[in-house]
Amino acid sequence: MNPLPLPSHSIYADGAWRAAHSTRHVDVVNPATERVIGQVADADASDVDTAVRAARAALGRPAWRGLTPDDRAGLLLALAAQLEARGEEMARTITEENGSPVSLTADAAAVTAMMLRHTASLAPLLDVEDLRPFPAGHASTVVRRVPVGVAALITPWNFPLHLLVAKLAPALLAGCTVVVKPAPETPYHAAVLASAVEAAGLPAGVVNIVTGGAETGRALVEHPGVDKVAFTGSTGAGRAIARTCGELLRPVTLELGGKSAAVVLPDADLGVLAARVLQTCLRNTGQTCYNATRVLAPRARYAEVVDIVTDAVRSAPLGDPTDPATVFGPVVSARQRAQVEEYLRVGAAEGARATTGGGRPAGFPVGYYVQPTVFADVDPAMRIAQEEIFGPVLAVLPYEDEEDALALANDSRYGLGGAVFGADEGHALEFATRMETGSVGVNFFGTNHAAPFGGWKDSGLGAEFGPEGLSAYLKHQSVHRLEENKGSHV
Ligand code: NAD
Repeated sequence: MNPLPLPSHSIYADGAWRAAHSTRHVDVVNPATERVIGQVADADASDVDTAVRAARAALGRPAWRGLTPDDRAGLLLALAAQLEARGEEMARTITEENGSPVSLTADAAAVTAMMLRHTASLAPLLDVEDLRPFPAGHASTVVRRVPVGVAALITPWNFPLHLLVAKLAPALLAGCTVVVKPAPETPYHAAVLASAVEAAGLPAGVVNIVTGGAETGRALVEHPGVDKVAFTGSTGAGRAIARTCGELLRPVTLELGGKSAAVVLPDADLGVLAARVLQTCLRNTGQTCYNATRVLAPRARYAEVVDIVTDAVRSAPLGDPTDPATVFGPVVSARQRAQVEEYLRVGAAEGARATTGGGRPAGFPVGYYVQPTVFADVDPAMRIAQEEIFGPVLAVLPYEDEEDALALANDSRYGLGGAVFGADEGHALEFATRMETGSVGVNFFGTNHAAPFGGWKDSGLGAEFGPEGLSAYLKHQSVHRLEENKGSHV
């Protein structure tokens, strides 16, 4: 990537890149080449303080506070256009920093522009005069929805732009200002976003960015000038953040890990499963939170399902993520590869049978590549059936009847996504509603930016997208006033 879109050792505060106080840095590595592509600041508490102060100052300035919801919606539309104008740069940048195939990153800017446009369309919800009479009839209340304040947006590396814009769009529409902390693996897309934010005409200080790892994130979550935290990442980090926010009584939204199930009903068209299994179960080289990485198959059709899934996984091209034909790229880092390889060992040791994959692919001496792997003969108690692997590994489990399938699907600490494959759509829909999960698709899985997306159980707290996602960036104020000639007791 040349030139890099983010100056070394800098933070973005009050509308400009500024030298960081921290002298530490993070190496950013291209997962396909293992080459260091740049260094960014490992921002410290002082840098976080600078960014939060900039956000607080912008919150109070008329240039932002004086805007109506319609004005802010207009800025979201302008940002959408600016992101689209940077579509190619964005795709290249994300692929270079996290190894996601260009077949996935090519539309990152277009999809997030759509997210921004949909969020802008929610502006009328903020304009409604919400007048509520006291039930006793002597007074009335105006319920105001006001921005929660400065929002800390902390994101992971797997879909860095999507997960950032999912927070940024409602935060800005609500009238918040933000401090963004992208994952240390993927800081550069945020710099491309910063240039779009400037070009869209957002006032300085409304969007601020600090780069760095968990320490930087912790300093941001704990900062007294932060009013709300929105986090996407692992369940472990989410719990730590929730503990801090609990102590501080700070609102928090958590989008966490998953181990979703794809239930293949006895009447399923296995051609449909074959066509959709990669997208539903192993998207982004298995590094997608809602991937249905447990495939549940009726025992009578188990061998057939294992064969179909195995063929789909084996025949998908693995390799250079910049090649448009590539389906499986490298995983994001050496650490992530070590985690996936550990699960490959655990699965084999537990007695599961790899029908394809199981190790490192031949012919890739460089790059964090892992063979996409399907495990058959998986028992529900096995770790590979219970724990999130976050790599290209599927477990296929047999079930006896539909009640057994439902029990297996719900036998998880997680509840994020899921899918039901069945020819009788009505029956599949009915089955889907009995799954303990925040989102579930019939014969496919997708994310609808107009509908809430959030996890149940250990998969999170709260939701993003739609009016539900917007409400996470608002607080209420009830302003009471007496009605004339209706008595004076209060
Ligand atoms: P991670 O939890 O290690 O890091 C996520 C972000 O949080 C990074 O920016 C990191 O620097 C920061 N962070 C880590 N510990 C922190 C702490 N104690 N305080 C503040 N910030 C902290 O996760 P990851 O490895 O980057 O991402 C993978 C995980 O994210 C997977 O578990 C995946 O399922 C989950 N994820 C969930 C969703 C969802 O919408 N539910 C979407 C994508 C990814």
